Amino acid sequence: LLSLRSATVRFGGRPVLDAVGLDITEHEVVCVLGPSGSGKSTLLRAVAGLQPLDSGRVLLDGRDQAGVPAHRRGVGLMFQDHQLFPQRDVGGNVAFGLRMHGVPRGERDAEVGQLLELVGLPGAARRAVAALSGGEQQRVALARALAPRPRLLMLDEPLGQLDRSLRERLVVELRELFGRLGTTVLAVTHDQGEAFALADRVVVMRDGRIAQSGTPLEVWQRPADEFVARFLGFDN
Ligand code: ATP
Ligand code: MG
Repeated sequence: LLSLRSATVRFGGRPVLDAVGLDITEHEVVCVLGPSGSGKSTLLRAVAGLQPLDSGRVLLDGRDQAGVPAHRRGVGLMFQDHQLFPQRDVGGNVAFGLRMHGVPRGERDAEVGQLLELVGLPGAARRAVAALSGGEQQRVALARALAPRPRLLMLDEPLGQLDRSLRERLVVELRELFGRLGTTVLAVTHDQGEAFALADRVVVMRDGRIAQSGTPLEVWQRPADEFVARFLGFDN
């Protein structure tokens, strides 16, 4: 479904993505781990078409995406800072994704209700976005990203601001949901436990490069190098 070939992005001469190669097959759930500044968000933005490459290629279904604008790529991206529409209520934010996907008006309310239930905000459709807590806003953003059923769903720290018990519940629910919908997912998280619970495959980034890519078990049992081992917390 997705291939990156030597994808490179430089800021001020410094490579932030450094010749990254990555393949994601249909229905795969991939989690990206890595320290702050290692290029995780830049990777997602490059795939989404929000960050042009300095060199290399992004392919979706084998087609080079150079010059293809973000809204034509058929991918969804939930931003790290979620960027909800403050002037719309909760339902309006979620329905935006459905409208983009061509869901008829008459079906939108029911679908909005289901999506809000899914993220643990049942009946919140008429609430004002500004009156929600950070974690509640994050859940609305998640519902909005899920709404258009993109063929590739990219999530940047989707559960970052939520408390542990809610995260744990949502990870299980998301895993089930992605399986049921057959969604292909590329998600960034700084929470190892979350990555290992959610992912078919874990990608560990360091300084714009992929330090390791493997199943959670492989990465856990055989870290590729000292950096990955340290990052996973095998300190000594
Ligand atoms: P975090 O875990 O903190 O979200 P990240 O892995 O997502 O980090 P990126 O946001 O991809 O990191 O940023 C990688 C590097 O690129 C950082 O050093 C950042 O300062 C730099 N960077 C990102 N966007 C820009 C930009 N528009 N202009 C200049 N530098 C940028
Ligand atoms: Mg980031």
